[in-house]
Amino acid sequence: MLLTQGPQFKGKPSKRMHVMAKPIGAACNIDCNYCYYLSKQDLLDYKKGCSPEMSEQDLEQYIKQYIEAQNTPEIIFSWQGGEPTLLGLPYFEKIVELQKKYKPIGVSISNDLQTNGTLLNAKWCQFLKENNFLVGLSIDGPAMYHDAYRTNKAGRGTHKQVMEAVKLLHEYEVSFATLTCINNLTSRNPLEVYRFLRDEVKSPQMQFIPIVEQKTFRDTAPQTWEEQQQPRQGDKRLIPGSKNSVMESWCVSDEAWGNFLIAVFDEWASRDVGKVFVQYFEAFIETWMGRRNPLCTLGEFCGKGLAMEPTGDVFACDHYVYPEYKIGNIHVDKLDDLAFSSKQQTFGFNKTKSLTEQCNTCDYKFACFGECPKNRFIRTRSGEPGLNYLCAGWHKFYKHADRSIAHLLRVMNYPVAHGKFSDKIVREAMSQPQPNNSFGAKF
Ligand code: SF4
Ligand code: SF4
Repeated sequence: MLLTQGPQFKGKPSKRMHVMAKPIGAACNIDCNYCYYLSKQDLLDYKKGCSPEMSEQDLEQYIKQYIEAQNTPEIIFSWQGGEPTLLGLPYFEKIVELQKKYKPIGVSISNDLQTNGTLLNAKWCQFLKENNFLVGLSIDGPAMYHDAYRTNKAGRGTHKQVMEAVKLLHEYEVSFATLTCINNLTSRNPLEVYRFLRDEVKSPQMQFIPIVEQKTFRDTAPQTWEEQQQPRQGDKRLIPGSKNSVMESWCVSDEAWGNFLIAVFDEWASRDVGKVFVQYFEAFIETWMGRRNPLCTLGEFCGKGLAMEPTGDVFACDHYVYPEYKIGNIHVDKLDDLAFSSKQQTFGFNKTKSLTEQCNTCDYKFACFGECPKNRFIRTRSGEPGLNYLCAGWHKFYKHADRSIAHLLRVMNYPVAHGKFSDKIVREAMSQPQPNNSFGAKF
């Protein structure tokens, strides 16, 4: 779970946690149609139109607690919003100053910052470079797709500003990754999106985020859905934009998600391996090798990353910022007590415990683990509730990529621990008398 009992550090068991801090809450300077966070202002009862800003005093308390709660050679702070750069550069200079004040000897501190990029300028980039921040930049591919949803408050697209930020990030050699939302538009244009990120943005690391929101997402917490009302896999109401759809129109469909991944994977596998870093694909390579999936959404457990609002309220996960999933407040509880509380542990273990029979018997459970529980709001075809909305897409992708991933691993002399072409299965197949079309000979 949150505690990594790895090698000792400074004579004590190592202890690590991760919190996504939102010192400006849901406040943002732009107005993306599909933002899952803007509606938190109403849900968390903030004053209309704004979230409170975390005061300097509270910020100091948080930084001190976060450092003291960990015993590890590296402590990673994550800053998110809303739009965290709205806090201004002096606020972040203060963050770095406070981190230096509380940093134990022999420990390194690093930061990541997620931003829409529209407020980044030369001064920001100089600061980010000097202080070694990793920036997560939201960009949804070429202008025609990005500007469809990522608009400012006047309704105008923000692509031009984001591309200016890309230029500056490169110029100042700031480490960054791109975060691209896969919605009803981008999912239908996979190669255009991928090639734009690769050739124009020159993204050092691509992260793709499937956009999945039911129409009720603004005020209904995950796992509080009425089970018997969950549509079954294949129900037309699950298609975004269809008549009586339960989904927001901008969402990706299960099928389009699978097709998107397949198209991008095929291009990547045929010419970009080792040159272009796509987070999902790197994670799959590791998983097929038999290692633990580094991504929480595809791993065995949840609960590895808490979320904190400017009020100090702490929630089970960034995607579970709903009153039902509040686990405490840093002004009342110690962060590590919250992180290791039984409530949070139950939340974490439920990811695997609540899998449907369809997932438990799935050939690709090792790579998927039913994906993120926030998306498990449909029923299997046999009627069992709690299946992932994206299941059909994920399964189609895994089936398609299985052979290629095994092949890539063999070319690189790595073991293939999983999948239909794993070393064990290949060995077994090769020890049998082979028909003409030898299974093993392909490798
Ligand atoms: S709820 Fe989803 S995003 Fe949160 S930890 Fe679990 S898998 Fe990750
Ligand atoms: S592909 Fe579908 S059935 Fe298989 S583990 Fe993932 S969500 Fe479950």
